[in-house]
Amino acid sequence: MDSTFEIGLGNNDIKTRSDASQDSIKFWEGQAAKLYWFEKWHTALEWSPPFARWFVGGKINASYNALDVIVKKSPNKKAIIWEGEDGTKRELTYQELLSEVSKLANALKSLGVKKGDRVTVYLPMVPELIMSLLACARIGAIHTVIFSGFSAKSIRDRVEDSKSKVIITSDGGTRRGNVISLKDIVDEAISDLDFVEHVLVLEHTKNNIIITKRDKKWHELVASMSSTCDAESLDSTHPLYILYTSGTTGKPKGVLHGTGGYLTHVFSTFKWIFDIQDSDIYFCTADIGWVTGHSYIVYGPLMHGTTQIMYEGALDYPTPAKLWEIISRYKVTILYTTPTALRMFMKFGDELPNSNDLSSLRLLGTVGEPINPQVWKWYFKIIGKEKCPIIDTWWQTETGGALISPVPGLETIPLKPGSATRPVPGVTLSVIDEHGKEVPPDSKGFLVVTNPWPGMLLTLWGDDEKYKTVYWSKYKNMYYPGDYAIKDKDGYIWMLGRADDVLKVAGHRLGTAELESAFVSNKAVAEAAVCGIPHEVKGESIISFVVLKEGVVPTIQLKEELINHIKKTIGPIAAPDQLCFVKKLPKTRSGKIMRRLLKAMAKNELIGDISTLEDEASVDEIKTALDELQQTLDKL
Ligand code: ATP
Ligand code: MG
Repeated sequence: MDSTFEIGLGNNDIKTRSDASQDSIKFWEGQAAKLYWFEKWHTALEWSPPFARWFVGGKINASYNALDVIVKKSPNKKAIIWEGEDGTKRELTYQELLSEVSKLANALKSLGVKKGDRVTVYLPMVPELIMSLLACARIGAIHTVIFSGFSAKSIRDRVEDSKSKVIITSDGGTRRGNVISLKDIVDEAISDLDFVEHVLVLEHTKNNIIITKRDKKWHELVASMSSTCDAESLDSTHPLYILYTSGTTGKPKGVLHGTGGYLTHVFSTFKWIFDIQDSDIYFCTADIGWVTGHSYIVYGPLMHGTTQIMYEGALDYPTPAKLWEIISRYKVTILYTTPTALRMFMKFGDELPNSNDLSSLRLLGTVGEPINPQVWKWYFKIIGKEKCPIIDTWWQTETGGALISPVPGLETIPLKPGSATRPVPGVTLSVIDEHGKEVPPDSKGFLVVTNPWPGMLLTLWGDDEKYKTVYWSKYKNMYYPGDYAIKDKDGYIWMLGRADDVLKVAGHRLGTAELESAFVSNKAVAEAAVCGIPHEVKGESIISFVVLKEGVVPTIQLKEELINHIKKTIGPIAAPDQLCFVKKLPKTRSGKIMRRLLKAMAKNELIGDISTLEDEASVDEIKTALDELQQTLDKL
């Protein structure tokens, strides 16, 4: 393998992208027809920019499509194979999942939850988390999941914003051998929120918790319910969920998704990008607290009757080989993970994946950040043994599902390490300049989506104005995702990082991903983050933060070597003025590097909203590194 790899798999019913490009609305209608509708729509798309309403007049239910449709064909197929950090196992068939979901839906009704009400879900990665989403969807309640690693303050803000009437949580969750008492955190979060009527508590870790009047125990309430519950026939545009974004660039936004359009997008893309087969064992390592979990753990896989692995705990605990052991034990065929996880595993070396049997794998996905070409190659070679295509999927909480991704079997196109290739069928994108003009091939610009697509958000919860400003005010009638990119002469898209983080050095614009990938291509480097601070002459001066691989010693010589490496790979213009070695980078809980935080610290500014920061210790470390740097500069 040198720089390209052909993908030839695929059972797609579309054979070329042009099937879709002639009339994308008609194309999406054809896709929507593959779902189960109680009543067919009369209008495929009502588009009053920037508000899109897909499949208007149609009646549908997400839980019905994810469960009942499958149960009719294969009730005994395994839906979830769950494993806990301590090795405990559980399995649920589609039939079992349907009856559990129905009981829970009846329980929610008994608590007074009605169509359109919001229900907050704060659970660890256990099957009951999936059940909670589907139970809400079954009765038309809007679920709003909060990642179980979040603090009381983060929960309070989100519950306050969504005005959830019921919260579903558990006594605790397990992480790295510790039990985190989720119920206590919820109690603290909602102590003064009187509109929360009930807290439904799942017994999972069996730690001691206080049960008050507003609490209901899951195993008492749910067990007593009937295991049948008719799925509500809902408008296609009925809201399915609110989900807050990762908060990489600022305060998280409450993204609101609808039902019919969203399901169509997720159903189609899950089939296309993963080339899903009945025999697959699928494992997505995301938490359901993120959109990847909503679309590609819950709705996408279940609508296709997929068997999937669900794991509660850290992928490198109790051993750094945990992920590889799971793949080998369950003969996982499709793995979907993140560049940040891959960089962590790369840091541990090749020995661990090499000593586990990964031969069942046939397709490898990635999402969340640009994948550095070096990491792509490692994933391809060491994990996929050069026989699995790398499916790099670009998308956002707002887009509902993948918009850029290779599609196996569709026009056997070569893969290029580091590019998510081309837009999926039915989606049209462009890379444009500040004035909205398409840039020539191989030039840098802003990525925009030029047509509405079915998975697009309805709006931001309770804030149509912010929805308009954030996504639709930079360019007229074009969706602005806020990412910087290149479209090459073959039409492949290369993501260069966030538009807000673009570095402007002596008249040149550099995406953060360009520099960071250049660092990662050096064998000493595990991870890197760069940011720019104002510079009188150059416009901006580049500061870089570098995490070295296990066992590599940080020295002044290495610093010089790395700066030279950047000069050689990108050019002298890109040479960072300052380089700090650190042990970890500030990241969101979903694993994305928070560059705005580095920038604020380097500029000595306030660091803004850090409610989604993974580990506050990383901030102290960066501060210390910057202080040391300042002292060295002062001495010069
Ligand atoms: P916020 O909007 O609150 O700052 P966020 O943008 O990190 O948070 P998400 O919706 O989780 O929230 O992430 C979407 C972003 O992740 C994209 O805009 C893009 O910057 C990045 N991203 C996702 N997948 C890819 C990919 N395959 N390649 C490059 N970047 C990606
Ligand atoms: Mg975003």
